[in-house]
Amino acid sequence: MTPRTAIQAAVRRLTISGVPDPTWDAAHLLSDILQRPALELRLDTDTLLTPLQEEAYEALICRREKREPLQYIEGETDFCGHVFSVTHDVLIPRPETEMLVAHAVHSAPNAACVLDVCCGSGCIGLSVKLARPDLQVVLSDISPEALAVARRNAARLSCDVTLTQGDLLTPFAAGHFALILANPPYIPSGECDHLQSEVMQEPRLALDGGADGLQVYRRLVQSAVTVLTPGGELVLELGDGEADSVSALAREAGFRNLSVFPDFQGIARMLVCRR
Ligand code: GLN
Repeated sequence: MTPRTAIQAAVRRLTISGVPDPTWDAAHLLSDILQRPALELRLDTDTLLTPLQEEAYEALICRREKREPLQYIEGETDFCGHVFSVTHDVLIPRPETEMLVAHAVHSAPNAACVLDVCCGSGCIGLSVKLARPDLQVVLSDISPEALAVARRNAARLSCDVTLTQGDLLTPFAAGHFALILANPPYIPSGECDHLQSEVMQEPRLALDGGADGLQVYRRLVQSAVTVLTPGGELVLELGDGEADSVSALAREAGFRNLSVFPDFQGIARMLVCRR
């Protein structure tokens, strides 16, 4: 079998199982095995795959057929121009989350203490630290397994950060951080059983925001008022349609100077507010 015929056969299988972008995925999984560019492989009608390569490809295509996300199969993904390890213990970083990083990089005061809470893979906090080495960055998550992935990413990216396991802001003292960043779980529980097949394989703990999707925001904004320094900033990623409710929660908790920013799809995606 040549790379081209192998990819074509895989595309047919992935199409049947409903994979959204079968050609991209089939070509990239073969590219992972052969360590050659995906586009080159799609055109290659000369080389023959060895039995071992065919077997390895078959194993990866079987996983993708079961709608396992490409990023979990490959074990890594790009975020803010860096490569992050991802496992089934963490949410796969999304491009829109880069907005939080861009904001933090521009707004954090010099040498400030910054917290990435619900850090998952650590993509937010570590990207901030890489762009702003002057900052003292802390990453925290309730899941020890997720924190282990964040620790691996910190090592892989040579990032000097502090990692803390705990439930939201409970591990932290009053008035400690100038900036708190979070992409908390925000999907209403009832929707969690009807998501895209790939998303259903991501950790429920990282997705489920309780009955109305706002449970984690509620606890987070209340405690963030205390844990921030006076004038400190809270930056939250928002679920689709949640901007008004989360803004109301932040106002009730005593935050002021609220701004909501849209993502590239025009969805209100980030709330920035000040203590
Ligand atoms: N902070 C991580 C991310 O943005 C994980 C978020 C989460 O687990 N809810 O990808």
